[in-house]
Amino acid sequence: MKKVRTRFAPSPTGYMHIGNLRTALFEYLIAKHENGDFILRIEDTDQEREVEGAVDIIYDTLAAVGLHHDEGPDVGGDFGPYIQSQRLPMYKEYADKLVDLGGAHYCFCCEEEIQEQRKVAESIGKAFKFDDPCKHMSIEEARERIQQGETYTVRQTIQPTGITAFEDQVYGRIEVDNNILDESVLLKSDGFPTYNFANIIDDHQMGITHVVRGNEYLSSTPKYNLIYEAFGWEIPTYIHVPPVMKDEQHKLSKRNGDASFQDLLQKGYLPQAVLNYIALLGWAPETEQEIYTLDELVKVFSIQRISRSGAIFDIDKLTWMNGMYLRAMDLESFHALAKPYLTQAIKRDVDLLSVSKILQQRTDILSQIPEQVDFIDELPTYDNGLYIHKKMKTTYEIALTALKAAYEALSALEDWSKEETIHDLLLSLPSALELKNGQVLWPIRTAITGKPFTPGGAIELAHILGKEETLKRITVGIEKLQMEEVNKNN
Ligand code: GLU
Repeated sequence: MKKVRTRFAPSPTGYMHIGNLRTALFEYLIAKHENGDFILRIEDTDQEREVEGAVDIIYDTLAAVGLHHDEGPDVGGDFGPYIQSQRLPMYKEYADKLVDLGGAHYCFCCEEEIQEQRKVAESIGKAFKFDDPCKHMSIEEARERIQQGETYTVRQTIQPTGITAFEDQVYGRIEVDNNILDESVLLKSDGFPTYNFANIIDDHQMGITHVVRGNEYLSSTPKYNLIYEAFGWEIPTYIHVPPVMKDEQHKLSKRNGDASFQDLLQKGYLPQAVLNYIALLGWAPETEQEIYTLDELVKVFSIQRISRSGAIFDIDKLTWMNGMYLRAMDLESFHALAKPYLTQAIKRDVDLLSVSKILQQRTDILSQIPEQVDFIDELPTYDNGLYIHKKMKTTYEIALTALKAAYEALSALEDWSKEETIHDLLLSLPSALELKNGQVLWPIRTAITGKPFTPGGAIELAHILGKEETLKRITVGIEKLQMEEVNKNN
């Protein structure tokens, strides 16, 4: 069997679209599942859409998620150049050859002539299909006019009879009547090919065996097959994949303000979690397993399990999965990722590794970190109602008793360096006060954080905040609760 070769062929638009990355992943998995090659080709023939630095974003994205390409502009290979704008002479040569073979013709029509026909079609309510008068010109005459310096395009020639059919690996048999197929421009007047031509020349010349791409290309594929046939080339295996959707009706798209891969990283999602999540968009494993490494995906991926219908991108599911990845890390790796967020949020001199330790089990995305630890620098103003917790069975009175006892015990503690000592000390209080653990610990945590939800409990947080700050905050709590007493008595 021929070695499987797939390609990722993005247009450099300045960001990595989630749907594109998902297609790249499928292309990679299909190749690697068969020990094949995964090739990167840059499709930059639409020069107007070209964005500076966009190619680097493509390299960076593939590297970040570990989709290493075997051939491409940066790594080389035997089938280069891998950037379309560097392949122009080749497209021209093949376009001329296709004209000789009868699969295309030179066209000298200007835009006005095309629009003229469009108007007529519209006025009689017919679907527009350009009927090119140049089709009937002899090749000699056309080449003579080109010699004279006339501008021209190369347009596909399609005999309007018969049908063209092919078998798509996902969508099954696709069949179209040739008379509805557009005779598209293949080579533009500036010498650049259109996608309609370049994809065929490149996929053939690069030895691509499996063309994996979005299903929006499904309806044009018969046209492409006619060109393969005109050249006498082998038609590749087609795997058209369903779109990634924002909701039932709309595709996910950066243009509509939906998140790109770069946006997700910026929000604190991990590249591996994103990759894992998008593997499940439009593909389903045979088992219930949801967490996969890339190598595991390579093993279990199968074309048969790619779905035909669009898959909705569910940010909550991705967030959940990202949390799974964060929790599965060792503390050092988590800390390395959390540190930039911690230093951004915490200016006070505290042991950041201890903060990471309490955060790791409670963080789904890294960007949640600053908000989770904002109380460390400064005690927020809070309402006394926070001391009342139904389940913990606290009252203002109990809270005040607990804080006073905690203050006394903690102020006598010399060595604050071990969490364990603080733990033992605070846990000796409830029995001495004839209270439940929660009745003591809840008020302490409330006093030192001023928040109803925090990562870590009273003991861990007191240890992180240090003796001076902890006592200061408990004092504030005591004063606030005493005011409550005064108000009650008045
Ligand atoms: N440049 C095309 C795109 O970005 C590639 C389509 C294909 O994979 O053939 O949509």
